[in-house]
Amino acid sequence: MSGRDADPLGGAVSDGILVVGGGIAGITAALEAAEAGVQVYLVEKSAHLGGRVAQLARYFPKLCPPTCGLEINYRRLRENRDVHVFTTAEVEEIRGEPGHYEATIRRHPRYVNDRCTACGACSAPCPVERPNPFDYGMSTTKTISLGHEMAFPMKYSIDASTCLFDDCAKCVDACPYGAVDLHMEEERIQLEVGAVVVATGWQPYDAGAIANLAFGHYPDVVTNVMLERMLAENGPTAGQVLRPSDGTPVRSAAFVQCAGSRDRLHLGYCSSICCLASLKEASLLLERNPEATAHVFFIDLRTPGTYEAFATKVLAHPNVRTTKGKVADILQDPDSGQLVVVADDMVAGAMRRLPVDLVVLASGMEPSLTQGRPAAEVAYDPDGFVAEGADGGGIFAAGCARAPVDVATATLDATAAAMRAIRVLRQATPLPAPTVTVPVP
Ligand SMILES: Cc1cc2nc3c(=O)[nH]c(=O)nc-3n(C[C@H](O)[C@H](O)[C@H](O)COP(=O)(O)OP(=O)(O)OC[C@H]3O[C@@H](n4cnc5c(N)ncnc54)[C@H](O)[C@@H]3O)c2cc1C
Repeated sequence: MSGRDADPLGGAVSDGILVVGGGIAGITAALEAAEAGVQVYLVEKSAHLGGRVAQLARYFPKLCPPTCGLEINYRRLRENRDVHVFTTAEVEEIRGEPGHYEATIRRHPRYVNDRCTACGACSAPCPVERPNPFDYGMSTTKTISLGHEMAFPMKYSIDASTCLFDDCAKCVDACPYGAVDLHMEEERIQLEVGAVVVATGWQPYDAGAIANLAFGHYPDVVTNVMLERMLAENGPTAGQVLRPSDGTPVRSAAFVQCAGSRDRLHLGYCSSICCLASLKEASLLLERNPEATAHVFFIDLRTPGTYEAFATKVLAHPNVRTTKGKVADILQDPDSGQLVVVADDMVAGAMRRLPVDLVVLASGMEPSLTQGRPAAEVAYDPDGFVAEGADGGGIFAAGCARAPVDVATATLDATAAAMRAIRVLRQATPLPAPTVTVPVP
């Protein structure tokens, strides 16, 4: 794969693996299978690979930027001709049985072809600014955009919901390579594969649904994924942590754990990542704003396994304070305009009111396949995650499509799913019996 989108392959193909979702889990499953000699069709619904990991500021526990891990994988993809990547594509239907599936892929037009060199000439004259989904709407971008500077494939795309098409067409005139095609059409691609890996990942739980936590009421109440973008050097504030309401540096932040999680009115389960994500974000906040204080409100801090050492280190910082207790309310002081966190301090046995500059809601991770599920024999657990071995043997789940997990677990999961998928292919097409040569005496 050279960084181009795959051609429609001129009809049916067979004996491969279909991987649905091009986040870290899907990329890993695709590469592991392809490097074992299997043809892989990787279908990603957005214009670029990388999933939510591309949007993180840094990874815990080492706090390296996500570009490290992703770039290595993109290089492996560029060097591998056996992974056929379809971006802006979705799986409509999967029919069949282990060893013999037919999948229908619907590829939406990107309106930019493979001649694109990512020079950016198309974007400059574009008159339409739209909320930037990569920054969760905290910045704007042109309707023809690259997404971000680490995009893979390194190719622009057009957001059809905001483009003025032939009423404007300035991007067509501006592109020196003839790469913009406003009349590109949707395609349907049929694939025959032996097994499927579903790696469709997660999406942030809608924090606006948690009425007492005031998301959407006050601009200084943000979610953990929004703070992740603020902390990122390529984010809306170039890595500075500023109050959205007035752009001043944040001197105090409250991290509200289990915002909607472990709550049967919202997400009944623990996302298992949010405590570590908040501790990571607290330590990055203190790196950027050394005078700031991070207050973490929690029911229990869950930092399993080897992450305990990371948590202990962050919690030892004198500017990290913890309160065991649920946050009941987020209010605004009418005089100062500052936010006030009202929480039940279980250790002190009293209600606590804490004024802060920024409130960060650690909202949980829900499966992204709550909408747009392909028509397929896939079973889901009661929380909407893909149930393992759903169709009885040929469809496997990996990463956050299966459960909310960290990156390390997602990649292990993906490798295991790839190996199981290969086993299904091998069972469907047994290897020829080995030839035994008996030496003639
Ligand atoms: C605030 C926060 C911070 C975090 N920080 C860390 C950290 O520091 N370290 C760490 O290890 N983990 C961290 N995580 C967890 C990390 O984000 C996940 O482990 C990781 O995203 C899992 O990757 P994935 O490929 O399973 O899913 P995703 O990253 O969600 O990727 C799924 C991909 O599938 C695509 N897709 C979805 N539906 C379809 C469809 N129907 N058809 C085709 N494609 C589809 C999506 O567009 C996406 O590209 C954090 C999580 C949160 C909430």
